[in-house]
Amino acid sequence: MQVEEIIPRYYDSNVYIINKKIVIDTGMTEASVLRGIEEVMPIEDIELIILTHAHYDHSGCANALLSRSHAKLAIHEADAPFLSDDTLSSALSFGSKAACPPADILYKGGEKIPIGLNEEGIMEYLEVIHTPGHTVGCICLYEANSKTLFSGDTVFSDGGIGRSDFRISEPEKMTVSIDKLTKLDVKNLYPGHGLPTIGNANRSIELSKMMSARMNP
Ligand SMILES: [Zn+2]
Ligand SMILES: [Zn+2]
Repeated sequence: MQVEEIIPRYYDSNVYIINKKIVIDTGMTEASVLRGIEEVMPIEDIELIILTHAHYDHSGCANALLSRSHAKLAIHEADAPFLSDDTLSSALSFGSKAACPPADILYKGGEKIPIGLNEEGIMEYLEVIHTPGHTVGCICLYEANSKTLFSGDTVFSDGGIGRSDFRISEPEKMTVSIDKLTKLDVKNLYPGHGLPTIGNANRSIELSKMMSARMNP
């Protein structure tokens, strides 16, 4: 699996490009995100946009990418209604309006999204893991062959965790969700904000679980 990262501006989420066809989270600052993606691949070639959750800092540029490509938009079904909600998507907090169109694909968790053959000719998949807490419909995406986890705003590098005090949060589920992630073998962690952890990310996720147990008892 090939991962490219767009370095975000300000409070934008990280934007990841997988195998030059799938985009995970879109950020919200249109000019810099479009420019960043164009340096890696033509925007019209994007096939699928997966949002780890509905927050505007992750979904704000989805409309711009969808209008320039034939990409499908995918998100967990529990977060889908918030995409067009100025308040619940937190768009208003960023001084914006939620202009995201309805999603084409709704996940429940457990789906395996084929992403193509790796260098050894093995088909690779992103597995959808439902991790409610930060929002009710947060997902993480795990690629087992390369032991890579895209964690959205559920866990960050160095033991960080996402806020769980939004109206659409479920703080009581945060620790259980992170516990699910500790059952995976994660080498590379690509979070929704901040730097990735390349190497042994299991320790970082263990620390996140301890942090969540303290903050969301
Ligand atoms: Zn975020
Ligand atoms: Zn968020």
